[in-house]
Amino acid sequence: MLIDTLTPQRALAIVAHPDDIEYYCGGTISRWVQSGATVSFVVATSGDKGSHDLNEDIDRLIRVREQEQRDSGRTLGVDDITFLRYPDSELSFVDHKALRGEFVRHIRRTRPEVILTHDPFVRFKRQHADHRVVGRLALDAAYPISTVAQCYREQIVSEGLSPWQPGDALLFGTDQPTYISDIAATIEVKIKALLAHQSQQSAFAGGMADRLHWRARTIAAPHGLVAAEEFLHVQLGVTLPESS
Ligand SMILES: [Zn+2]
Repeated sequence: MLIDTLTPQRALAIVAHPDDIEYYCGGTISRWVQSGATVSFVVATSGDKGSHDLNEDIDRLIRVREQEQRDSGRTLGVDDITFLRYPDSELSFVDHKALRGEFVRHIRRTRPEVILTHDPFVRFKRQHADHRVVGRLALDAAYPISTVAQCYREQIVSEGLSPWQPGDALLFGTDQPTYISDIAATIEVKIKALLAHQSQQSAFAGGMADRLHWRARTIAAPHGLVAAEEFLHVQLGVTLPESS
């Protein structure tokens, strides 16, 4: 098990919905930002199915959820947040080449050392289909597509971007964690950030704060820690052996 081996200066989180970041990796992001990192978010949908009210004004819901995500980002120290505004719960059916191209564009723009996204290969846990789609396309974007100049070449030719290879991916929501992040110092910031998503309170059985405390404690305990987040680590860059 790897514990806190990554301390990036630039990181990019690519997620399906507003509130995914806070739940899965908000403590890690807050710690990195406090260490001087610049972190950016790309949110594929604006959570337009996140209401049980069939009379809900969907445009209003989108505005509310984007504002909640911005408020949460401010708490975490992140202000570079892009909403792609794809339809919530329908990512299996949208143009995947275009969606992957958006992920490539933001990887090339923000040049992250680490990307954080959903584990798309979960077998032994329930998973939202949007999480599976975003994880797979984000991982494909991070390796090798963002590095290949001929892929989405208009981004290179017309938009002034350059190919970029992130060094590592941390995949959350995984059923095979290999990387633990100690968030004892930032668990309260993580909770405050999730609490910004007030429209989603009913989605967190037991209450947002208690649920996050319980989850962080449960992940941390086997490793002798008090609060942690877990990931599957994938090395994307190549480390050449040192020549002697
Ligand atoms: Zn989600």
